[in-house]
Amino acid sequence: MKPRLSIILSAVALIVLLIVQYYNISVTFQTKREQFDNRYGAIVKQALYDYASGAAGYQSDSLFILFDSISEELVFQSGQVPGGPVNGTLQQQILASYNRILLDHTSPDGYLRDYLVRAGADPDFRSGYYIRELSLLDFDHVIPVYHDTTGLQPAGLRNALHANTYAFEGNYFRIRYDYYIDFTHKTQIIYRDMVITFILAAVTILIVLFVFFMTVRNMLIQKRLSDMKTDFINNMTHELKTPLSTIAVASSTLGDENLLKDKKKVLQISEMIKKQNKHLTQLIDRILEISIWEKDQVKLKKQSVHIYEFIEDRIQLFRMENTGKNLQINTAYKLDKDFVALDEIHMTTVLNNLLSNAVKYCNEKPEIRIEVSVNLKLKIRIRDNGIGIRKEDQRQIFDKFYRAGKGDFKTVKGLGLGLYYVKQIVTAHQGEIFLHSLPGKGSTFTIEIPLNDEHPAGRRR
Ligand code: ADP
Repeated sequence: MKPRLSIILSAVALIVLLIVQYYNISVTFQTKREQFDNRYGAIVKQALYDYASGAAGYQSDSLFILFDSISEELVFQSGQVPGGPVNGTLQQQILASYNRILLDHTSPDGYLRDYLVRAGADPDFRSGYYIRELSLLDFDHVIPVYHDTTGLQPAGLRNALHANTYAFEGNYFRIRYDYYIDFTHKTQIIYRDMVITFILAAVTILIVLFVFFMTVRNMLIQKRLSDMKTDFINNMTHELKTPLSTIAVASSTLGDENLLKDKKKVLQISEMIKKQNKHLTQLIDRILEISIWEKDQVKLKKQSVHIYEFIEDRIQLFRMENTGKNLQINTAYKLDKDFVALDEIHMTTVLNNLLSNAVKYCNEKPEIRIEVSVNLKLKIRIRDNGIGIRKEDQRQIFDKFYRAGKGDFKTVKGLGLGLYYVKQIVTAHQGEIFLHSLPGKGSTFTIEIPLNDEHPAGRRR
């Protein structure tokens, strides 16, 4: 399956999982709310029943009397309701007075609170009455005041518990009203009950997210590796082809009778074959070395190295190898010790790689500055005036097969192994390598290797 497709599929699966979890949580919330309403509803019903049974002093009689007297007054004495339908303002006034009576004279709230505490439930709530139907009675004549047929909960008590419906009929009135209880901590109580559900959902989502990101990350790493391997194979083919074709041309030239007479030419050609052969061997050795590192850590053979002589020898040899390139190399030393413990052979290659890169990746007359210092650490800094390395390449420059500036590898030969090798060797010496580079200005590589006291220290220079 293509990586892009599997990423898309996993992302879709992740979104589905999120939706399912969301759905689960809302279903659980719904269930918990129903459980809450059932439990609290049962307690409230029982409490209201006990309250109405009289022992607790329910004032239904006084309520009845009050309703009756206010209704009688409305019907006969005030003359406000002559028997026709009640207009809007008057209706509000009448409802308000009945509501006031309800609030002032029927308050099971205190009783209910105590009851809830005794039942081990949360006692914080606010309550409300809502008159559904009210009519005044004038003997056989019914004067409707208000009739709510919607059955909806009143605006301020949308999520409240419907505790009871009361209906009375007196001589001068008929009333039906609902009693609602809104528990203050209802949502918190439900959420508290859902803690385990939340934790499980969060953990599942986190695990899946983690696995998803790790998979995507690994996929991208794999893709980068495989891209680099393809690049490497292209480069290697290119690198191997040049010496091979030179050898092929040279050896076929050697078969020429006329040429064989010219001893100097023959020697030149044999020298060329030798040189190309050496180059081929070096290339193959490098590839083999890499495959050995895959299995094992680099093993160092440290020995005491006279650092000044070591560096100067390398520079001299490097100059010889690059005669004709008009190199300019200058050096600066600050040495507290003469001898340091290094793997001489590996460090030779490290220096060669850095120096040849400084020349390879330079479009002008190469000017290289080498600074070496020894105190608690060995520091070797190599600065060039080359093409520099872009910021986005700097992080990967030490990776195996990595070559900066894609596409232009055909102009400068390489396998992308030089700096990888350098990094491996410096790390094997417990050291670090730093790069500072500005495109167009040049690059500076700094190697820092800690020096332990047990290694043989030499005389001061
Ligand atoms: P190679 O030279 O075989 O490509 P290296 O590992 O030595 O491989 O270098 C990796 C890449 O880093 C090179 O392809 C080049 O783009 C960049 N590079 C290395 N050294 C320098 C330098 N001194 N100046 C500019 N670019 C460099």
